[in-house]
Amino acid sequence: MKHPKPSPCRFHAEAPARWYCDDCRLPLCTSCKPFAEQLPLEVDCPLCGSAMSELHPDSEERVSGLRLALGHAIGLPGLAVAAVASLLAAVGFTSIAGLLLTLPVGAVLLALMIALTQRAGEGTSKAPSFGELLEIEQLEYCVRMLPLGLPHAAVLLLAAASGSVALLVVAALLVAALLPLSLMAAVSQETPRAGIDPQGLRRIARVTRQQYLPVAAGAAGLVIIAAPILHLPVAAPLLPAAVTFASVLLALAASAYLGVALRLHRRMLEYSAGVAPIDRPRQPDPAVYEPAMLAADAASLLREKRTHEARLLLGRALTRFPDDPRLNEQFDRLVCTTARPREFRSHLERRMQRLFKSGSATAATALWQRYSPQLDNWVPRVSETRYRLALELDEAGDHQTAFRLLIGLSPDDGRFRHTAEAWMEAARILEESLRDPRRAAELRKVVRQRYPDKAVAWDSRWMQGSSHAAPARRAPAAKVARG
Ligand SMILES: [Zn+2]
Ligand SMILES: [Zn+2]
Repeated sequence: MKHPKPSPCRFHAEAPARWYCDDCRLPLCTSCKPFAEQLPLEVDCPLCGSAMSELHPDSEERVSGLRLALGHAIGLPGLAVAAVASLLAAVGFTSIAGLLLTLPVGAVLLALMIALTQRAGEGTSKAPSFGELLEIEQLEYCVRMLPLGLPHAAVLLLAAASGSVALLVVAALLVAALLPLSLMAAVSQETPRAGIDPQGLRRIARVTRQQYLPVAAGAAGLVIIAAPILHLPVAAPLLPAAVTFASVLLALAASAYLGVALRLHRRMLEYSAGVAPIDRPRQPDPAVYEPAMLAADAASLLREKRTHEARLLLGRALTRFPDDPRLNEQFDRLVCTTARPREFRSHLERRMQRLFKSGSATAATALWQRYSPQLDNWVPRVSETRYRLALELDEAGDHQTAFRLLIGLSPDDGRFRHTAEAWMEAARILEESLRDPRRAAELRKVVRQRYPDKAVAWDSRWMQGSSHAAPARRAPAAKVARG
C-alpha cells in the first residue's frame, strides 16, 4: 500500500501511471497493461513478474490503509458508540440496563461497522458524520445488511445463555474469525446472505488473506485480553469501560480496514460498487486480452533492453497464439535486430509461407515490403511464396517487381507446378501494365510451345474471369479449350 505520487508511465510520458511495481519502481499506464482494469486478475509486473499495485486516478494523495482505517473510526459517531458501550460495560452487562441495551447497542455498532466497510470500499477517505450516516439511503443500506450479524449474535447469545465462560470465549473467538469475512462478503456482494455462504467466505479469505489474517488475529487477541477483564469482578468499573471503549474503536477501525482490502482486491472480488462505472464494461475475451497483455509485456521488456527475457516471453506467447499479429510483429522486429541476416531471412521465409497458407496474403506482402530493402532486396527462396507475393504486388500496383519475380521463377523447380501460369501472368503484366505487347506476345509463344495444355487452360480461365472485352486473339485459344 505504499505508492509514490502519481507519475507518468515510464514508457508513455503523456499517460498517467495506473499500475506500479514497488520492487522495480515501474509505473505503467493502461496501454502498457491493456484491458487489465477490466479484469478480475492480479496484474503482473512485466519485469519481475510479481503483482503490481493499482494506482487510483481519483485519490490524489496516497493514504496508508491503517491510517485511513483509524481516521474512519475516530469520528464523532464512532466515539459516541464507543462511549455508550463503555457506559454499559461500567454498569455491567448483566445488570438490568446491560440486559436491555446490549443488543440494540450491538446492532448500532454493527450498522456502523457495515457503513465504514462500505464507505472505505468505495474509496471515501474521511470518517462519516452523523448527517451522512442518517441519510435515508445510508440508513436503508445498513438496515438491509444488518441480518449478516444474526448468526454471530446467535452464537454469542447461546454461549452466554449456557453460563459457561469458556464457551463464551470460544464463541467470541469464532465470531472474531468469521465476522470480518461475513462483513466483506456481504458488502462486496451487496447482500447479507453472502455473509453465510461458505464458498464465498473461503474465496474472500483467499483473496484478501494479507489484510484479513492480521484483522482476525488482532480480533482474537483482543478477545483473549478483554475476556478476563470484562468477566472477573473488579473493584473499579473503570477498567472494563476503558477496555470496551478501545475494543469498539478497534472494531470500527478494522471494519474500515476491511473496506480498504475490498477496494484493493475489487477486481478479483468483482466488487462492482468499488469500481468506477467506466471500469466495468463487459469483460473482454481471453483470446483478445491474453495476447494483448503478453505483447505489451514484451514491449516493456524490449524497451528496457531485456532482449533475452523478451525473446523467451514471445516464444512462450507464440506457442499459445501462433497467429497473433502483434506478437508476430514484435518477434519479427526482435529477430531482425538480434539475429544474423541469414537467420532473419529464413525466419521471414517461414513467416511468409505461413501467412500465405492461412490466407493473409496482404500481411505477407507487407512483411516483405517492410524488411526486404534492408536485406538487399531479398526475395523468398520458395517458388510458391515468390509466385503468390508477385501476384499480390501486381494487385498493389508494383507491376515491375511482380513481373521480375514471375519471370524469374525457374521451370526446373520440381516442387513448383505453376511456371506456365506464372509466365502467362508475367505476359499479361507486360501487355497491360508495362505497355510492351511485343515482348508479351513472345513470352506467350514460349509458354504455348513449352506447356501447350497449361497455356490453353490459362487462356480459358482468363477469358471466363475477365469481364471486360477480351482481346480478339484470345478467342481461338478459348474455343480450343472448350472443344
Ligand atoms: Zn505506458
Ligand atoms: Zn517488478
